[in-house]
Parts: sequence; structure tokens; C-alpha cells
Amino acid sequence: MINILDKTFVPFISRQSIENRVLELSAMISKDYEGRCPLFLVVLNGAFLFAGELVKHIPLTCEITFIRLSSYSQTESTGKVKEIIGLDNNIENRDIIIIEDIVDTGLTIAQLLKQIEDKKPKSVEIATLLHKPEALKTPVAMRYIGFEIENKFVVGYGLDYDGIGRNLDSIYVLA
Ligand code: 5GP
Repeated sequence: MINILDKTFVPFISRQSIENRVLELSAMISKDYEGRCPLFLVVLNGAFLFAGELVKHIPLTCEITFIRLSSYSQTESTGKVKEIIGLDNNIENRDIIIIEDIVDTGLTIAQLLKQIEDKKPKSVEIATLLHKPEALKTPVAMRYIGFEIENKFVVGYGLDYDGIGRNLDSIYVLA
């Protein structure tokens, strides 16, 4: 059991389970992208640990870059749009793998996907450490999913609660 700020969290996914599962995902990606040079887009901040562990075990020639989504949102006819910050690469005709920490409602990744697809990559796939199927509000095709979890708030292994907890080496759930 750990306390972060005003909340209590209990162990949920162990470090060993995460490492085992990440190795499986690395192997899947290595096989699927054999002979290609994918460009990994790591969505900061939450995906930094997952991405580090994942790419370490992928022996492909590849590129890795880091992006963020602006918390500032502008109103369009479609509603609030988070913009991509840090995508300097020309991604036209590239094989893109987006690395995310968690897909909850799916709204963030759906917006991100649309902006990426507008830049005409050859392919785009998503690798997410966690996914909450019950929370999904828009259909999103995710090829690589670490763990499907129930609709509860989690921290650790990159994920924070109000800025705290990203350095935990395993995942905890709100008690
Ligand atoms: P979505 O747009 O899919 O609802 O939200 C995705 C983002 O919400 C994630 O990238 C993450 O920052 C945050 N998020 C969603 N669920 C959780 C959770 O259980 N724990 C933490 N720490 N962040 C979450």
C-alpha cells in the first residue's frame, strides 16, 4: 500500500508482469516490422518508461521521437483539439508506431491519430501499455496492448497522480 498526496493506492500489476508482457510486445513488433524502419512516436509524459523498456528489446533499425499533446485546447466546430508538440519529422510514407501509456476514453488517441493520418504516413499502429475497454467512448484500433484493465485510476510505471508516482516500478490502483 502507498500513499500519494491525499489518496491510497494498492499494488495492481507487478514489475515482473510488466517486464514479461513488454518483452512479448517487443517480440511482436520486431516480427511485424522486420525489414522496415519504423518511427516510434512516444507520447510524453506518461509513456516514457514503457517506451524505454519496449524499444530496448526491439533490434530493428528504427527512429524514436518524443511528442506531447498541448493541454491548451482550441475550440473548433468539432470541439476541443489538442495539438501535437514536437513532431519535427517528416512522417509522410513512414511506418509509425505511437507509444502511449494508457487509452481510457480513447478521445486523446483518436485526435492524435487523426492529426498523424493527415500527414500521410504509410501505416500507423498504436502500442499502449494499458487500456480500459469499459471506458472507451470512440472506436480505436489498437494493435499492441499490454494489459486490459478495469475502469479504475492507476499510477506508476510512468503514470502519475497530480504529477507524482511516475517513477514507481510497478502499477498501483486506487484503493
Ligand atoms: P483518454 O483521452 O483516453 O480518456 O485519456 C488518456 C489520458 O488520460 C492518458 O494518456 C493519461 O494521461 C490519462 N489517464 C487516463 N486514465 C488514467 C489512469 O487511470 N491513471 C492515470 N495516471 N492517467 C490516466
